[in-house]
Amino acid sequence: MLNETPAAAQVDAAPAARWVVHKFGGSSLADADCFRRVADIASGLAEVRVALVLSACRGVTDSLLSLVTAAESARIEQCRASLARIADRHAGIAADLLAPAPRQAYLDALDADVADLERLLQAVALVRTSGRDIRDRVAGFGELWSSRLFAAFMGAHEPGRAVRWLDAREIVVVEWGPLGPGVQWASSRERAARAIAAELEGVLVIPGFVATDTRGLQTTLGRNGSDFSASIFGALLGAREIVIWTDVSGVLSADPSQVPDAKTIASLSYSEAMELAYFGATVIHPQTMAPAVEQDIPIRIRNTFAPQEPGTSIVAAPDPGERVKGITTIADVALVNLEGAGMIGVPGTAHRLFGALHEAGISVILISQGSSEHSICCAVPAAQANFAERAVGRAFSAELRDGQIQSVTVTDGCSIVAAVGDGMAHHHGIAGKLFQAFGQAGINVRAIAQGASQRNISAVVDEREASKALRAVHAAFYLSPHTLSIGLIGPGTIGSVLLAQLASQAERLRTDFNLDLRVRGIATSRRMLLAERAIDLADWRAHLDRAGEPLDLERFTAHVAADHLPHRVLIDCTADAGVAGRYADWLAAGLHVVTPNKKANSAALAEFRRVRQARRAAGTQYFYEATVGAGLPIILTVRDLRETGDRIREIEGILSGTLAYLFNVFDGSRPFSEIVRDAKAQGLTEPDPRDDLSGTDVARKLVILGREMGLPLELANVRVESLVPVQLRECGIDEFLERLPAYDAAMSARLGEARRDGQVLRYVARLTADGRATVALERLDARHAFANIALTDNVVRFVTDRYCDNALVVQGPGAGPAVTAAGVFSDLLRLASGIGARI
Ligand code: ADP
Ligand code: ASP
Ligand code: MG
Repeated sequence: MLNETPAAAQVDAAPAARWVVHKFGGSSLADADCFRRVADIASGLAEVRVALVLSACRGVTDSLLSLVTAAESARIEQCRASLARIADRHAGIAADLLAPAPRQAYLDALDADVADLERLLQAVALVRTSGRDIRDRVAGFGELWSSRLFAAFMGAHEPGRAVRWLDAREIVVVEWGPLGPGVQWASSRERAARAIAAELEGVLVIPGFVATDTRGLQTTLGRNGSDFSASIFGALLGAREIVIWTDVSGVLSADPSQVPDAKTIASLSYSEAMELAYFGATVIHPQTMAPAVEQDIPIRIRNTFAPQEPGTSIVAAPDPGERVKGITTIADVALVNLEGAGMIGVPGTAHRLFGALHEAGISVILISQGSSEHSICCAVPAAQANFAERAVGRAFSAELRDGQIQSVTVTDGCSIVAAVGDGMAHHHGIAGKLFQAFGQAGINVRAIAQGASQRNISAVVDEREASKALRAVHAAFYLSPHTLSIGLIGPGTIGSVLLAQLASQAERLRTDFNLDLRVRGIATSRRMLLAERAIDLADWRAHLDRAGEPLDLERFTAHVAADHLPHRVLIDCTADAGVAGRYADWLAAGLHVVTPNKKANSAALAEFRRVRQARRAAGTQYFYEATVGAGLPIILTVRDLRETGDRIREIEGILSGTLAYLFNVFDGSRPFSEIVRDAKAQGLTEPDPRDDLSGTDVARKLVILGREMGLPLELANVRVESLVPVQLRECGIDEFLERLPAYDAAMSARLGEARRDGQVLRYVARLTADGRATVALERLDARHAFANIALTDNVVRFVTDRYCDNALVVQGPGAGPAVTAAGVFSDLLRLASGIGARI
């Protein structure tokens, strides 16, 4: 009988007198030091009845199984040599831990086993094939060797306590069937009762993984079966608790090798643990749960290397905790898709499909069928994909021929990502969050399944994106922070202030919003600094000097786009057209871009469109609020107006903080050239003040606004009045400043004329809905809104269908590193909220 259940054991003993089973996995038994550590843990246990179930030493089962593979291809010398290495490893640990007499006894038994094994392998080499019987027999030796060694060591380690080695093969009887090893509880229980006297106390050392089959031949409980051994012995002994000791601090919210932020789950229900185990959390074997559930024995997962930590408890009714407890993945999966209009409303199609797969011995991992019944798809192990395709093709050959079924297709290279938790049942929004996370990380979902238990939602994704998907989903459920991998190019005036702002806010963003902004790369025009996790922003300049390397922008972007971080952004704080020329490629490659650099948006229209298209096609984000008006919400305003259906008729504004300043201060009391000199000295102008005075910068901003309005505007279409006298356009900066006073008289004359008419001079940009664009020094009425702005203020007036009588005005400081960097920073936060962070 395969599905016998463990009948109630003798559990009337007082709790303190009941057995507790402790299982130590291979990872806890790697070498002599590990054995000592385990013995120390065992000695520290307060219980009077302790059953220790041990795995093979780390890696030994794999090595033993590869001996069989080598023997199958008759590589017998290689077999012998590997076997000798495995035996030596055990002999080495024995030499370290055991006194001469017990050591000799141990080595004699080891030699006898090795001789047995050699004969077995020779037999395999002769017939060049092996069945499961043989593989199981060979694989089980690892547990025999580790447990015998440990029993001998423990006996000496704790002389006051009775330590006995118990052969699991004499107790656990299993019969292998289609669902795996089925424990024969009646006979196992009978054998246990015979071997373990009711009054026995002390330490039992038991090899995990091994068992006997109904014919009396040595078999195993399947890979990772020592966990199952532990719970079988738990049931047989009526244990109070089963403790699984491993190399992590419990069941974590995701595989820690893929999600470094994974957290220990405090408690899980048996069903949750089973689901997680089945869906790839190798920390515990799924079958472990059944015997424990049957007798309601709590299971605890603990860390051999950190025994002070509480670990995870697995019980029938755990504390509620998170709705989604953990996220897992199964790799190497293929999707089989059966499609055809002839299936609609025809009963029995699914039956035939799964019947065919069953007959071919293929296990189905996930099933999904749309309610139209037009297609059914299922996931199978990738190794069986071709086999599955042929089996299904054969089963439906008539329908395929007659066209009732159009196709049987197999897509390999897939992985399953599953979110697991009892708390998902009867709660809305979980699936929404899950698929939003996929969407925001740009991950395509091929198939979806949610069981009626609502304990598990699974999605099939491309294998190459599985790791990214896992992290994105893990972050979405607040199991780990939303992490942005950031690369900053151009740590100049604005860039370095931005880094300082990021440094000062990082902690708050992490604690308040679970947002982890990690600057992982900083690049200047010549050098770059890369960090695996994050650059220490308090000290980046010194690091760059010390540990920086020559700039390689390809490598820089590849580093920022690290596969394991689903969200990546490049911040371009340069004013460089070359860097801007790369946005399209970056956006297409899944990197978001945030920038105050005007070059991309004011480049030729074709280039501008290429950037937009790349962004749209890849679903990435591109933010550039700080290109106009520094931190003022100007681009946002244009966008909001358009998106709410308003029509912008006209935009006018003062878009240069520098020019605003010059004309605010120029009141005739001092010559214009002196004011320019002064502004330069205060750092209010570009290094070459002509970059401001020429008006090109303002024209670029106007082009950016025009394009935001939807106008196909080119820089060449903007009529610009340059304030740089023609004769001074080519000379050096110093010469320019020296010769500028020669033009003061003309400028003063313009001011004088304006004043006579009660007007002021302002450098104004104008744009109308029909695409007329001008940038010029204008005379404005002294009561005009633009006449009364402070210092470096920018001001923009929007005249729209809705705001027509009374224009919408945005005004405020529009230049300076602090406000510009803050504009970039708020774009970054907008980006973070777009990828799911709740800010
Ligand atoms: P043992 O040798 O103790 O049986 P295993 O290697 O079988 O240990 O299982 C422990 C390993 O499981 C961990 O080191 C970890 O890499 C992996 N693992 C995968 N998913 C999870 C998860 N969700 N929680 C904890 N560990 C996990
Ligand atoms: N040693 C066996 C394996 O590696 C069983 C176990 O460790 O759980 O599969
Ligand atoms: Mg294990």
